[in-house]
Amino acid sequence: MDKFDAIIIGTGQAGPSLAARLVDAGMKIAVIERKLFGGTCVNTGCVPTKTLIASAYVAKTARRAADFGVRLQGEAIVDMKAVKARKDAISGRSRTGVEQWMKGLKSCTVYQGHAQFLSPGEIVVGNEVLTAEKIFINVGGRASVPPFPGLAEVEYLTNSSMMDVDLLPEHLVIIGGSYVGLEFAQMYRRFGSAVTVVEMQPQLIAREDEDVAAAVGKILEQEGIDIRLNAKCITAARHDTGISVTVECAEGPPQVTGSHLLLAVGRRPNTDDLGLDKAGVRIDERGYIEVDDQLRTNVPGIWALGDCNGKGAFTHTAYNDFEIVAANLFDNDRRSIADRVTAYALYIDPPLGRAGMTERQVRERKEPTLIAKRPMTKVGRAVEKGETEGFIKILVHAGDGRLLGASVLGIGGDEVIHCILDLMYAGAPYTVLQRAMHIHPTVSELLPTMMGELKPLALTEMSAAGP
Ligand SMILES: Cc1cc2nc3c(=O)[nH]c(=O)nc-3n(C[C@H](O)[C@H](O)[C@H](O)COP(=O)(O)OP(=O)(O)OC[C@H]3O[C@@H](n4cnc5c(N)ncnc54)[C@H](O)[C@@H]3O)c2cc1C
Repeated sequence: MDKFDAIIIGTGQAGPSLAARLVDAGMKIAVIERKLFGGTCVNTGCVPTKTLIASAYVAKTARRAADFGVRLQGEAIVDMKAVKARKDAISGRSRTGVEQWMKGLKSCTVYQGHAQFLSPGEIVVGNEVLTAEKIFINVGGRASVPPFPGLAEVEYLTNSSMMDVDLLPEHLVIIGGSYVGLEFAQMYRRFGSAVTVVEMQPQLIAREDEDVAAAVGKILEQEGIDIRLNAKCITAARHDTGISVTVECAEGPPQVTGSHLLLAVGRRPNTDDLGLDKAGVRIDERGYIEVDDQLRTNVPGIWALGDCNGKGAFTHTAYNDFEIVAANLFDNDRRSIADRVTAYALYIDPPLGRAGMTERQVRERKEPTLIAKRPMTKVGRAVEKGETEGFIKILVHAGDGRLLGASVLGIGGDEVIHCILDLMYAGAPYTVLQRAMHIHPTVSELLPTMMGELKPLALTEMSAAGP
């Protein structure tokens, strides 16, 4: 039996930084990884998808070259093998970087294998049993595969197996019109595939406001993506030309036929094969590990960080979990996830940057609110770049002037949103933003102007679809 001060299970977005911190504090630690160093983000999530999206953006821009007065001799051709090779190189460098980092840490032993609890302080990996007083679970999640009738009889892809694709699907059918599904949808459409998105809800990205979802849908449809909403009773079957998906929608034919099927219907935590019952660690009905605001489980000495605790589903939330745990353990700083402001992006092009509450959530509070909305057609920088899709929407508390939330769908939306986010962390009123001098020409330069355009939000109806 090998005794350590601490054990970390998983090398996702929290584990490696925590490992470095524990070692710095003089601890002898073990890090266990069962598959690819760096976890989802590095290997099958953020890094590879954003790399592929960059290739897709170039393909789209090349096709639009004439709009900018640039003539290409011949058409732009996407070489999928080269696209994949670029993605593999960038993702591979990150993975190797994490692996070398972990293996190079002094007083850190790296185990490659599947970890399971034997008891609250004991972990088995392969033939070895490790013990520690502190155990940090950072096991992440994987794609959900719902039991759609017929699914077992057809070949389907998930975000993980999509990473091996180096050909152009003739027609990619994607079940799931949320963040993961839409990024793949636009990327493959731009590579040259026909793409159909099948979504069970009445709108895409169901948790976003209707106007945001409608504008995203418009952007995708303009590029030729077929969107099927309200799809009920989804079944899959083999077809001469690939797969067919039966969907009962209010509109459109009841069957979608394609060459490839991608499932993008959510994620589930990797907690079912971790022996949590042997440690007495409580999970909720969906398998997420229950934690308090400092990421402690119900068992003293065991923490859960990242996607597996259900408190976030992003790289930045996993990393923030690490910061909170480290601050509490080492810095006498009682940081807490209760202080976190919701923030994320949807990386279609143009991206959607989100902070705080949606308009729908604000309305549910039934408190006096101010709203400002501006289409990207009225943002000089967007006009100059020829990318005027989307809009900016900002919500402010009418009483104390605090910013409640914002959606920035448009060029640079993933960066611009941080102006709002930081002000929310500062707890500052909107007048601080209104008086700031921003740089011209940028998208962000319009934020102070918008603060002068705030109007009372009518609590009875959602703001109209589009700006
Ligand atoms: C297609 C896609 C795109 C995404 N894009 C973004 C994005 O743009 N921005 C963003 O913020 N987030 C994005 N995400 C989400 C992001 O990837 C995750 O939120 C993030 O990786 C979670 O990190 P984590 O540390 O919780 O776990 P993970 O990164 O999932 O890592 C968990 C690690 O634990 C290991 N493990 C699991 N069980 C065991 C075990 N029993 N023993 C040993 N090891 C184990 C796994 O092999 C894995 O390496 C995306 C996700 C997907 C699927």
